[in-house]
Amino acid sequence: MNHNITIKKTENSRLSSVDFDNLPFGRLFSDHMFVIDYIDGEWQEPQIVPYGTIEIEPSNMALHYGQAVFEGMKATKTADGKAMLFRPEQHSRRINASASRLAMPELPESIFLDAVHTLVDLDKGWIPPTEGSALYIRPFMFASDHSVGVRPSSSYKFMIFTCPVGPYYAKPVKLLAETTYVRAAMGGVGEAKAAGNYAAAMLPSLLAQQQGYDQVLWLDAKEFKYVQEVGTMNIFFVIDGKVVTPMLSGTILRGITRNSIITFLKEGGYEVEERRIAIDEIVEAHKNGTLTEAFGAGTAAVISHVASILYMGEEMILPPVEEREIGPWAKSQINGVRSGRLPDAKGWLIEAGQLKGAAVEV
Ligand SMILES: *Cc1c(COP(=O)(O)O)cnc(C)c1O
Repeated sequence: MNHNITIKKTENSRLSSVDFDNLPFGRLFSDHMFVIDYIDGEWQEPQIVPYGTIEIEPSNMALHYGQAVFEGMKATKTADGKAMLFRPEQHSRRINASASRLAMPELPESIFLDAVHTLVDLDKGWIPPTEGSALYIRPFMFASDHSVGVRPSSSYKFMIFTCPVGPYYAKPVKLLAETTYVRAAMGGVGEAKAAGNYAAAMLPSLLAQQQGYDQVLWLDAKEFKYVQEVGTMNIFFVIDGKVVTPMLSGTILRGITRNSIITFLKEGGYEVEERRIAIDEIVEAHKNGTLTEAFGAGTAAVISHVASILYMGEEMILPPVEEREIGPWAKSQINGVRSGRLPDAKGWLIEAGQLKGAAVEV
Protein backbone atom coordinates (compact mmCIF):
# COMPACT_ATOMS: atom_id res chain seq x y z
CA MET A 1 0.00 0.00 0.00
CA ASN A 2 3.01 2.23 -0.11
CA HIS A 3 3.00 4.59 -3.06
CA ASN A 4 6.28 6.06 -1.89
CA ILE A 5 4.90 9.42 -1.05
CA THR A 6 7.89 11.77 -1.03
CA ILE A 7 7.77 13.75 2.18
CA LYS A 8 9.44 17.13 2.53
CA LYS A 9 8.96 18.20 6.14
CA THR A 10 8.72 21.82 7.18
CA GLU A 11 11.67 23.37 8.98
CA ASN A 12 9.43 25.99 10.55
CA SER A 13 6.52 24.22 12.23
CA ARG A 14 3.85 26.71 13.30
CA LEU A 15 2.31 24.24 15.75
CA SER A 16 3.74 25.75 18.95
CA SER A 17 2.08 29.11 18.18
CA VAL A 18 -1.45 27.68 17.84
CA ASP A 19 -4.04 28.72 20.42
CA PHE A 20 -6.28 25.65 20.43
CA ASP A 21 -8.87 27.44 22.61
CA ASN A 22 -9.46 30.13 19.99
CA LEU A 23 -9.39 28.51 16.57
CA PRO A 24 -10.61 30.63 13.65
CA PHE A 25 -12.89 28.37 11.57
CA GLY A 26 -11.14 27.25 8.41
CA ARG A 27 -8.45 29.94 8.31
CA LEU A 28 -5.59 28.24 10.11
CA PHE A 29 -3.79 25.52 8.16
CA SER A 30 -1.60 22.71 9.43
CA ASP A 31 2.08 22.38 8.56
CA HIS A 32 1.84 20.09 5.53
CA MET A 33 -0.21 19.41 2.41
CA PHE A 34 -0.45 16.56 -0.07
CA VAL A 35 -0.16 17.12 -3.80
CA ILE A 36 -0.23 14.88 -6.85
CA ASP A 37 -0.45 15.93 -10.49
CA TYR A 38 -2.24 14.20 -13.34
CA ILE A 39 -0.40 14.68 -16.62
CA ASP A 40 -0.76 12.91 -19.97
CA GLY A 41 -3.19 10.34 -18.64
CA GLU A 42 -1.11 9.40 -15.61
CA TRP A 43 -0.89 10.26 -11.94
CA GLN A 44 2.61 11.50 -11.18
CA GLU A 45 4.70 11.19 -8.03
CA PRO A 46 2.69 11.79 -4.81
CA GLN A 47 4.24 14.35 -2.47
CA ILE A 48 3.76 15.84 0.96
CA VAL A 49 5.30 19.31 1.27
CA PRO A 50 5.04 22.28 3.66
CA TYR A 51 1.67 24.07 3.37
CA GLY A 52 2.07 27.01 1.05
CA THR A 53 1.11 28.80 -2.12
CA ILE A 54 0.94 27.21 -5.56
CA GLU A 55 1.52 28.98 -8.83
CA ILE A 56 -1.14 28.97 -11.53
CA GLU A 57 -1.44 30.82 -14.80
CA PRO A 58 -4.34 33.23 -15.50
CA SER A 59 -5.53 30.81 -18.19
CA ASN A 60 -5.92 27.97 -15.67
CA MET A 61 -9.04 26.16 -16.87
CA ALA A 62 -10.58 25.58 -13.44
CA LEU A 63 -10.82 29.35 -12.96
CA HIS A 64 -12.83 29.74 -16.15
CA TYR A 65 -14.93 26.62 -16.56
CA GLY A 66 -15.13 25.29 -13.02
CA GLN A 67 -13.75 21.77 -13.29
CA ALA A 68 -13.24 21.53 -9.54
CA VAL A 69 -14.49 19.02 -6.95
CA PHE A 70 -13.80 18.59 -3.26
CA GLU A 71 -14.43 16.60 -0.09
CA GLY A 72 -14.79 17.47 3.58
CA MET A 73 -13.85 14.99 6.29
CA LYS A 74 -12.55 15.03 9.85
CA ALA A 75 -9.90 13.41 11.99
CA THR A 76 -10.60 13.31 15.71
CA LYS A 77 -8.68 12.26 18.81
CA THR A 78 -9.86 9.48 21.07
CA ALA A 79 -9.68 9.88 24.85
CA ASP A 80 -6.32 8.07 24.83
CA GLY A 81 -4.93 10.43 22.17
CA LYS A 82 -5.11 8.36 18.98
CA ALA A 83 -5.80 10.14 15.68
CA MET A 84 -8.85 8.55 14.09
CA LEU A 85 -10.41 8.81 10.62
CA PHE A 86 -14.10 8.10 9.99
CA ARG A 87 -15.07 6.11 6.87
CA PRO A 88 -12.27 7.62 4.73
CA GLU A 89 -12.88 5.18 1.84
CA GLN A 90 -16.38 6.65 1.43
CA HIS A 91 -14.85 10.06 0.80
CA SER A 92 -12.48 8.57 -1.77
CA ARG A 93 -15.37 6.94 -3.63
CA ARG A 94 -17.44 10.10 -3.52
CA ILE A 95 -14.75 12.43 -4.84
CA ASN A 96 -14.22 9.96 -7.67
CA ALA A 97 -17.94 9.95 -8.45
CA SER A 98 -17.92 13.76 -8.40
CA ALA A 99 -14.84 13.82 -10.65
CA SER A 100 -16.43 11.43 -13.18
CA ARG A 101 -19.49 13.65 -13.50
CA LEU A 102 -17.21 16.58 -14.40
CA ALA A 103 -15.18 14.49 -16.88
CA MET A 104 -12.19 14.50 -14.52
CA PRO A 105 -9.98 11.48 -13.80
CA GLU A 106 -10.41 9.28 -10.72
CA LEU A 107 -7.63 9.04 -8.17
CA PRO A 108 -7.05 5.38 -7.20
CA GLU A 109 -8.54 4.73 -3.75
CA SER A 110 -5.24 3.32 -2.50
CA ILE A 111 -3.46 6.62 -3.23
CA PHE A 112 -6.25 8.67 -1.64
CA LEU A 113 -6.17 6.58 1.53
CA ASP A 114 -2.40 6.50 1.72
CA ALA A 115 -2.34 10.29 1.34
CA VAL A 116 -4.96 10.96 4.03
CA HIS A 117 -3.40 8.50 6.48
CA THR A 118 0.14 9.77 5.96
CA LEU A 119 -0.77 13.47 6.07
CA VAL A 120 -2.95 13.17 9.19
CA ASP A 121 -0.39 10.97 10.93
CA LEU A 122 2.33 13.53 10.16
CA ASP A 123 0.26 16.49 11.40
CA LYS A 124 -1.62 14.72 14.19
CA GLY A 125 -0.24 17.24 16.67
CA TRP A 126 -2.67 19.67 15.00
CA ILE A 127 -5.77 17.73 16.07
CA PRO A 128 -7.32 19.85 18.83
CA PRO A 129 -7.50 17.96 22.14
CA THR A 130 -10.99 19.00 23.32
CA GLU A 131 -14.02 16.83 22.54
CA GLY A 132 -16.10 18.13 19.65
CA SER A 133 -13.02 19.67 18.01
CA ALA A 134 -11.42 18.09 14.97
CA LEU A 135 -8.85 18.34 12.24
CA TYR A 136 -10.87 19.24 9.17
CA ILE A 137 -9.48 17.54 6.06
CA ARG A 138 -10.03 19.10 2.64
CA PRO A 139 -9.18 16.91 -0.38
CA PHE A 140 -9.83 18.63 -3.72
CA MET A 141 -9.02 18.37 -7.40
CA PHE A 142 -9.04 20.98 -10.15
CA ALA A 143 -8.20 21.35 -13.83
CA SER A 144 -4.68 22.61 -14.42
CA ASP A 145 -4.41 23.06 -18.20
CA HIS A 146 -3.64 26.57 -19.40
CA SER A 147 -6.17 27.14 -22.12
CA VAL A 148 -9.41 28.95 -22.81
CA GLY A 149 -10.67 26.28 -25.17
CA VAL A 150 -13.84 24.68 -23.80
CA ARG A 151 -13.08 20.97 -23.27
CA PRO A 152 -12.08 18.78 -20.35
CA SER A 153 -8.61 19.66 -19.11
CA SER A 154 -5.87 17.12 -19.83
CA SER A 155 -3.99 17.86 -16.58
CA TYR A 156 -5.25 18.11 -13.00
CA LYS A 157 -3.95 18.81 -9.53
CA PHE A 158 -5.22 16.80 -6.56
CA MET A 159 -4.37 18.22 -3.16
CA ILE A 160 -5.21 17.74 0.51
CA PHE A 161 -4.70 20.22 3.32
CA THR A 162 -6.01 20.19 6.86
CA CYS A 163 -7.12 22.75 9.44
CA PRO A 164 -7.80 22.43 13.16
CA VAL A 165 -11.38 23.48 14.01
CA GLY A 166 -12.97 24.10 17.39
CA PRO A 167 -16.20 22.55 18.67
CA TYR A 168 -19.04 23.47 16.37
CA TYR A 169 -21.81 24.84 18.58
CA ALA A 170 -24.62 24.83 16.06
CA LYS A 171 -27.58 26.78 17.32
CA PRO A 172 -30.95 25.69 15.91
CA VAL A 173 -31.35 27.11 12.42
CA LYS A 174 -34.21 29.10 10.90
CA LEU A 175 -34.94 27.92 7.36
CA LEU A 176 -36.45 29.61 4.35
CA ALA A 177 -38.02 27.20 1.85
CA GLU A 178 -36.78 28.60 -1.46
CA THR A 179 -39.37 29.07 -4.22
CA THR A 180 -37.34 31.20 -6.66
CA TYR A 181 -33.89 29.63 -6.91
CA VAL A 182 -32.93 25.93 -7.15
CA ARG A 183 -29.89 23.94 -6.08
CA ALA A 184 -30.13 20.88 -8.30
CA ALA A 185 -32.17 19.59 -11.22
CA MET A 186 -32.50 16.01 -12.46
CA GLY A 187 -29.64 15.36 -14.84
CA GLY A 188 -27.56 18.16 -13.30
CA VAL A 189 -24.62 18.05 -10.91
CA GLY A 190 -26.45 18.10 -7.58
CA GLU A 191 -25.08 14.71 -6.64
CA ALA A 192 -21.49 15.87 -7.17
CA LYS A 193 -19.51 17.81 -4.59
CA ALA A 194 -18.64 20.32 -7.29
CA ALA A 195 -17.34 23.81 -6.49
CA GLY A 196 -19.92 25.33 -8.84
CA ASN A 197 -22.83 24.05 -6.76
CA TYR A 198 -21.58 26.17 -3.90
CA ALA A 199 -21.15 29.24 -6.11
CA ALA A 200 -24.75 28.91 -7.35
CA ALA A 201 -26.08 28.70 -3.79
CA MET A 202 -24.36 31.82 -2.50
CA LEU A 203 -26.83 34.46 -3.72
CA PRO A 204 -29.96 32.62 -2.50
CA SER A 205 -28.25 31.99 0.87
CA LEU A 206 -27.27 35.64 1.18
CA LEU A 207 -30.82 36.79 0.35
CA ALA A 208 -32.22 34.38 2.94
CA GLN A 209 -29.80 35.74 5.56
CA GLN A 210 -30.79 39.31 4.73
CA GLN A 211 -34.36 38.33 5.59
CA GLY A 212 -33.26 36.87 8.92
CA TYR A 213 -32.98 33.19 7.99
CA ASP A 214 -29.90 31.01 8.52
CA GLN A 215 -30.20 28.52 5.69
CA VAL A 216 -32.15 27.73 2.56
CA LEU A 217 -34.41 24.67 2.40
CA TRP A 218 -34.03 23.57 -1.21
CA LEU A 219 -37.04 22.31 -3.15
CA ASP A 220 -37.02 20.40 -6.43
CA ALA A 221 -36.27 22.32 -9.62
CA LYS A 222 -39.34 21.25 -11.56
CA GLU A 223 -42.31 21.89 -9.30
CA PHE A 224 -40.87 23.48 -6.14
CA LYS A 225 -42.80 20.75 -4.39
CA TYR A 226 -40.39 18.17 -3.00
CA VAL A 227 -37.78 18.80 -0.32
CA GLN A 228 -34.16 18.22 -1.33
CA GLU A 229 -31.56 19.49 1.16
CA VAL A 230 -30.88 22.23 3.67
CA GLY A 231 -28.00 24.60 2.88
CA THR A 232 -25.08 22.21 2.42
CA MET A 233 -26.57 19.43 4.55
CA ASN A 234 -28.97 16.53 4.07
CA ILE A 235 -32.37 17.00 5.72
CA PHE A 236 -34.28 14.71 8.09
CA PHE A 237 -37.78 15.10 9.55
CA VAL A 238 -39.53 13.20 12.33
CA ILE A 239 -43.24 12.83 11.57
CA ASP A 240 -45.48 10.75 13.78
CA GLY A 241 -42.41 9.18 15.41
CA LYS A 242 -41.09 8.04 12.03
CA VAL A 243 -37.85 9.40 10.54
CA VAL A 244 -38.15 10.52 6.93
CA THR A 245 -35.46 11.83 4.60
CA PRO A 246 -35.46 12.48 0.85
CA MET A 247 -34.36 9.45 -1.15
CA LEU A 248 -31.20 9.64 -3.25
CA SER A 249 -32.70 10.55 -6.57
CA GLY A 250 -29.77 12.07 -8.46
CA THR A 251 -30.27 15.61 -7.16
CA ILE A 252 -29.21 14.93 -3.58
CA LEU A 253 -25.66 14.79 -2.28
CA ARG A 254 -24.92 11.32 -0.93
CA GLY A 255 -23.98 12.45 2.56
CA ILE A 256 -21.80 10.11 4.57
CA THR A 257 -23.29 11.57 7.77
CA ARG A 258 -26.75 10.89 6.27
CA ASN A 259 -25.82 7.28 5.60
CA SER A 260 -24.28 6.83 9.06
CA ILE A 261 -27.33 8.31 10.79
CA ILE A 262 -29.76 6.11 8.84
CA THR A 263 -27.68 3.05 9.83
CA PHE A 264 -27.58 4.02 13.52
CA LEU A 265 -31.30 4.81 13.58
CA LYS A 266 -32.32 1.53 11.98
CA GLU A 267 -30.08 -0.45 14.31
CA GLY A 268 -31.45 1.55 17.24
CA GLY A 269 -34.94 0.35 16.36
CA TYR A 270 -36.22 3.54 14.75
CA GLU A 271 -38.31 3.42 11.61
CA VAL A 272 -36.62 5.29 8.73
CA GLU A 273 -38.12 6.03 5.33
CA GLU A 274 -36.13 7.30 2.35
CA ARG A 275 -38.68 8.71 -0.06
CA ARG A 276 -40.00 11.79 -1.77
CA ILE A 277 -41.24 14.34 0.78
CA ALA A 278 -43.60 17.04 -0.43
CA ILE A 279 -43.33 20.38 1.37
CA ASP A 280 -47.14 20.21 1.69
CA GLU A 281 -46.73 17.07 3.80
CA ILE A 282 -44.45 19.04 6.14
CA VAL A 283 -46.99 21.88 6.35
CA GLU A 284 -49.74 19.35 7.09
CA ALA A 285 -47.71 17.51 9.72
CA HIS A 286 -46.87 20.80 11.40
CA LYS A 287 -50.54 21.79 11.42
CA ASN A 288 -51.69 18.57 13.04
CA GLY A 289 -48.79 18.49 15.50
CA THR A 290 -47.05 15.35 14.21
CA LEU A 291 -43.91 17.17 12.98
CA THR A 292 -41.78 16.86 16.11
CA GLU A 293 -38.24 17.27 14.77
CA ALA A 294 -36.21 18.36 11.76
CA PHE A 295 -32.45 18.46 11.42
CA GLY A 296 -29.70 18.87 8.86
CA ALA A 297 -26.85 16.34 8.71
CA GLY A 298 -23.29 16.85 7.47
CA THR A 299 -19.66 16.43 8.46
CA ALA A 300 -19.12 19.97 9.78
CA ALA A 301 -21.89 20.22 12.40
CA VAL A 302 -22.88 16.51 12.41
CA ILE A 303 -26.45 17.61 13.21
CA SER A 304 -28.04 21.06 13.03
CA HIS A 305 -31.47 21.20 14.60
CA VAL A 306 -34.11 23.13 12.67
CA ALA A 307 -35.87 25.80 14.74
CA SER A 308 -38.40 26.92 12.12
CA ILE A 309 -39.27 26.79 8.42
CA LEU A 310 -40.75 29.68 6.43
CA TYR A 311 -42.78 28.51 3.43
CA MET A 312 -44.99 30.79 1.33
CA GLY A 313 -45.07 33.44 4.04
CA GLU A 314 -46.08 31.01 6.82
CA GLU A 315 -43.62 30.29 9.59
CA MET A 316 -43.68 26.77 11.02
CA ILE A 317 -42.09 26.72 14.47
CA LEU A 318 -40.82 23.35 15.70
CA PRO A 319 -40.75 22.12 19.32
CA PRO A 320 -37.73 23.24 21.41
CA VAL A 321 -34.59 21.11 21.08
CA GLU A 322 -34.83 20.04 24.76
CA GLU A 323 -38.03 18.17 23.86
CA ARG A 324 -36.46 16.31 20.95
CA GLU A 325 -35.25 12.74 21.09
CA ILE A 326 -34.07 11.42 17.74
CA GLY A 327 -31.79 14.19 16.46
CA PRO A 328 -29.85 14.45 19.75
CA TRP A 329 -29.63 10.63 19.94
CA ALA A 330 -28.23 10.35 16.41
CA LYS A 331 -25.66 13.05 17.12
CA SER A 332 -24.50 11.35 20.31
CA GLN A 333 -24.15 8.05 18.43
CA ILE A 334 -21.84 9.55 15.81
CA ASN A 335 -19.83 11.61 18.29
CA GLY A 336 -19.73 8.67 20.71
CA VAL A 337 -18.23 6.29 18.17
CA ARG A 338 -15.74 8.92 17.00
CA SER A 339 -14.51 9.69 20.51
CA GLY A 340 -14.36 6.03 21.54
CA ARG A 341 -17.17 6.48 24.11
CA LEU A 342 -19.34 3.99 22.17
CA PRO A 343 -18.15 0.77 20.52
CA ASP A 344 -17.37 1.00 16.80
CA ALA A 345 -19.51 -1.97 15.79
CA LYS A 346 -19.32 -1.13 12.09
CA GLY A 347 -15.55 -0.76 11.89
CA TRP A 348 -15.98 2.80 10.63
CA LEU A 349 -13.08 4.23 12.62
CA ILE A 350 -9.50 3.71 11.59
CA GLU A 351 -6.38 5.08 13.22
CA ALA A 352 -4.40 7.43 10.98
CA GLY A 353 -1.32 5.64 9.74
CA GLN A 354 -2.85 2.16 10.20
CA LEU A 355 -4.21 1.19 6.80
CA LYS A 356 -4.83 -2.48 7.72
CA GLY A 357 -5.45 -3.38 4.10
CA ALA A 358 -8.56 -1.21 4.03
CA ALA A 359 -7.52 0.22 0.70
CA VAL A 360 -8.64 -1.38 -2.51
CA GLU A 361 -6.45 -1.05 -5.56
CA VAL A 362 -8.62 0.32 -8.39
C1 LIG B 1 -21.00 17.70 1.68
C2 LIG B 1 -22.48 17.89 1.56
C3 LIG B 1 -23.40 17.22 2.40
C4 LIG B 1 -22.99 16.38 3.57
O1 LIG B 1 -22.19 15.30 3.28
P1 LIG B 1 -21.34 14.60 4.44
O2 LIG B 1 -20.67 13.49 3.76
O3 LIG B 1 -22.30 14.13 5.45
O4 LIG B 1 -20.43 15.65 4.98
C5 LIG B 1 -24.75 17.38 2.14
N1 LIG B 1 -25.19 18.18 1.16
C6 LIG B 1 -24.33 18.86 0.35
C7 LIG B 1 -24.88 19.72 -0.71
C8 LIG B 1 -22.96 18.73 0.53
O5 LIG B 1 -22.12 19.40 -0.26
